[in-house]
Amino acid sequence: MTNELPRIGLGIDVHRLEPGRPFILGGVRFDCEVGPVGHSDGDVVLHAACDAVLGAAGLDDLGTLFSDRDPENAGRDSAEFCVQAMKLVAQSNLKVWSLDVVVETEHPKLKPRRDEMRARLADLFGVAVDRVNIKGKTGEKVDAIGRGDACRATVVALLGP
Ligand code: MG
Repeated sequence: MTNELPRIGLGIDVHRLEPGRPFILGGVRFDCEVGPVGHSDGDVVLHAACDAVLGAAGLDDLGTLFSDRDPENAGRDSAEFCVQAMKLVAQSNLKVWSLDVVVETEHPKLKPRRDEMRARLADLFGVAVDRVNIKGKTGEKVDAIGRGDACRATVVALLGP
């Protein structure tokens, strides 16, 4: 594979929210009455970020690499998915150049912890913190996200040699 030119990837992930689940976003645990339901820890930011970098590298997606039917992945820390995804990206002679993240959720408020999330993403994906951007949005009372029943992350990743 020739990698002289940058490669772009897109990842999107949604999880339903229910009371009594830990709410982890971008590897940062928030204090919240609800949290994502998922086979792993349900971290939509890390799941979408993994799919974005895997997509840019032309590799299998997260669900193919880590099946939600595999008991090994039950309750799993999604940071481990990132480590595995980045191993495959490195084998393709690619690096992450930048990540741009949008999180849509009614709760929790991301702003107080946004810098922590940026630092964690920078660390997990081997990119400078000033090349990671995170935007938090609400669902404006529209659909499941607006009602507070779900959260969604969308990530664009730029990769290059
Ligand atoms: Mg997911």
